[in-house]
Amino acid sequence: MNLLPAPPVNADNRPYRDGASAGRLMLPHCGACGHRFFMPRYQCPRCWSNDLHWTPASGRATIHSYCIVRRAALPAFADRVPYVLALIDLAEGPRMMSQILGENALQAHIGAAVELCFETCADGAQLPQFRLVHHG
Ligand SMILES: [Zn+2]
Repeated sequence: MNLLPAPPVNADNRPYRDGASAGRLMLPHCGACGHRFFMPRYQCPRCWSNDLHWTPASGRATIHSYCIVRRAALPAFADRVPYVLALIDLAEGPRMMSQILGENALQAHIGAAVELCFETCADGAQLPQFRLVHHG
Protein backbone atom coordinates (compact mmCIF):
# COMPACT_ATOMS: atom_id res chain seq x y z
CA MET A 1 0.00 0.00 0.00
CA ASN A 2 1.35 3.43 -0.98
CA LEU A 3 2.16 5.84 1.82
CA LEU A 4 -0.28 8.75 1.97
CA PRO A 5 1.03 12.28 1.57
CA ALA A 6 1.16 14.04 4.95
CA PRO A 7 -1.54 16.63 5.57
CA PRO A 8 -0.14 20.18 5.75
CA VAL A 9 0.87 21.62 9.11
CA ASN A 10 -0.23 25.12 10.06
CA ALA A 11 -0.57 27.19 13.22
CA ASP A 12 -4.11 25.93 13.83
CA ASN A 13 -3.35 22.21 13.63
CA ARG A 14 0.24 22.03 14.91
CA PRO A 15 -0.75 20.64 18.38
CA TYR A 16 -2.87 18.01 16.59
CA ARG A 17 -0.04 17.01 14.24
CA ASP A 18 2.65 17.09 16.96
CA GLY A 19 0.40 14.97 19.19
CA ALA A 20 -0.09 12.43 16.42
CA SER A 21 3.66 12.18 15.94
CA ALA A 22 3.88 11.37 19.67
CA GLY A 23 1.14 8.71 19.39
CA ARG A 24 -1.75 10.78 20.70
CA LEU A 25 -4.96 12.14 19.24
CA MET A 26 -5.07 15.69 20.57
CA LEU A 27 -8.39 17.54 20.70
CA PRO A 28 -8.89 21.26 21.22
CA HIS A 29 -11.30 22.48 23.84
CA CYS A 30 -12.42 25.96 24.71
CA GLY A 31 -11.27 27.58 27.96
CA ALA A 32 -14.24 29.95 27.90
CA CYS A 33 -17.19 27.58 27.35
CA GLY A 34 -15.64 24.09 27.64
CA HIS A 35 -16.69 22.99 24.13
CA ARG A 36 -14.58 20.19 22.58
CA PHE A 37 -14.44 20.18 18.81
CA PHE A 38 -12.76 18.93 15.68
CA MET A 39 -11.32 20.08 13.13
CA PRO A 40 -8.60 22.14 14.71
CA ARG A 41 -9.13 25.86 14.21
CA TYR A 42 -8.01 29.10 15.76
CA GLN A 43 -11.21 29.86 17.68
CA CYS A 44 -14.07 28.03 19.35
CA PRO A 45 -16.87 27.37 16.83
CA ARG A 46 -19.46 27.78 19.63
CA CYS A 47 -18.44 31.04 21.37
CA TRP A 48 -15.58 32.34 19.16
CA SER A 49 -13.11 32.50 22.04
CA ASN A 50 -9.48 31.88 21.09
CA ASP A 51 -8.66 30.59 24.59
CA LEU A 52 -8.00 27.05 23.33
CA HIS A 53 -6.37 24.16 25.16
CA TRP A 54 -5.39 20.70 23.96
CA THR A 55 -5.92 17.36 25.67
CA PRO A 56 -5.45 13.78 24.44
CA ALA A 57 -8.51 11.77 23.43
CA SER A 58 -9.03 8.26 24.80
CA GLY A 59 -9.06 6.70 21.32
CA ARG A 60 -12.45 5.05 21.97
CA ALA A 61 -15.12 5.80 19.39
CA THR A 62 -18.00 4.45 17.34
CA ILE A 63 -18.88 4.69 13.66
CA HIS A 64 -21.60 7.31 13.06
CA SER A 65 -21.78 6.60 9.33
CA TYR A 66 -19.53 5.28 6.59
CA CYS A 67 -19.17 4.59 2.90
CA ILE A 68 -17.10 2.12 0.94
CA VAL A 69 -14.91 3.90 -1.59
CA ARG A 70 -14.52 1.80 -4.75
CA ARG A 71 -12.95 4.40 -7.05
CA ALA A 72 -10.02 6.43 -5.73
CA ALA A 73 -10.37 10.19 -5.99
CA LEU A 74 -6.58 10.66 -5.89
CA PRO A 75 -3.71 8.50 -7.18
CA ALA A 76 -2.35 8.09 -3.61
CA PHE A 77 -5.48 6.10 -2.73
CA ALA A 78 -5.58 3.94 -5.87
CA ASP A 79 -4.14 0.80 -4.28
CA ARG A 80 -6.51 1.03 -1.29
CA VAL A 81 -9.82 0.52 -3.02
CA PRO A 82 -12.16 -0.72 -1.82
CA TYR A 83 -11.68 1.06 1.51
CA VAL A 84 -13.95 2.38 4.25
CA LEU A 85 -14.28 6.10 4.91
CA ALA A 86 -16.19 6.80 8.10
CA LEU A 87 -17.54 9.54 10.32
CA ILE A 88 -16.29 8.69 13.79
CA ASP A 89 -17.98 9.77 17.03
CA LEU A 90 -15.23 10.11 19.61
CA ALA A 91 -16.04 9.17 23.21
CA GLU A 92 -15.19 12.78 24.10
CA GLY A 93 -17.92 14.10 21.79
CA PRO A 94 -16.37 15.50 18.60
CA ARG A 95 -16.99 13.83 15.27
CA MET A 96 -14.16 13.33 12.80
CA MET A 97 -13.61 11.66 9.46
CA SER A 98 -11.24 8.71 9.24
CA GLN A 99 -10.40 5.75 7.13
CA ILE A 100 -11.10 2.40 8.81
CA LEU A 101 -7.93 0.30 8.64
CA GLY A 102 -7.41 -3.43 9.10
CA GLU A 103 -8.13 -6.65 7.24
CA ASN A 104 -11.74 -6.66 8.50
CA ALA A 105 -12.41 -2.99 7.68
CA LEU A 106 -15.12 -3.86 5.13
CA GLN A 107 -17.17 -5.32 8.01
CA ALA A 108 -17.68 -1.77 9.32
CA HIS A 109 -21.22 -0.84 10.25
CA ILE A 110 -23.05 2.03 11.92
CA GLY A 111 -22.55 1.87 15.68
CA ALA A 112 -19.47 -0.39 15.48
CA ALA A 113 -16.84 0.21 18.16
CA VAL A 114 -13.54 1.43 16.79
CA GLU A 115 -10.21 2.34 18.32
CA LEU A 116 -7.50 4.78 17.45
CA CYS A 117 -4.48 3.64 15.48
CA PHE A 118 -1.87 5.53 13.48
CA GLU A 119 -0.75 5.32 9.88
CA THR A 120 2.71 6.43 8.81
CA CYS A 121 2.65 9.01 5.99
CA ALA A 122 5.24 9.54 3.25
CA ASP A 123 7.22 12.07 5.30
CA GLY A 124 7.17 9.89 8.43
CA ALA A 125 4.36 11.86 10.07
CA GLN A 126 1.70 9.85 11.89
CA LEU A 127 -1.91 10.12 10.76
CA PRO A 128 -4.67 9.25 13.27
CA GLN A 129 -6.95 6.57 11.83
CA PHE A 130 -9.30 3.98 13.32
CA ARG A 131 -9.80 0.20 13.21
CA LEU A 132 -12.63 -2.04 14.30
CA VAL A 133 -12.43 -3.28 17.89
CA HIS A 134 -12.15 -7.05 18.09
CA HIS A 135 -14.30 -8.85 20.63
CA GLY A 136 -13.66 -12.31 22.03
ZN1 LIG B 1 -16.14 28.28 23.47
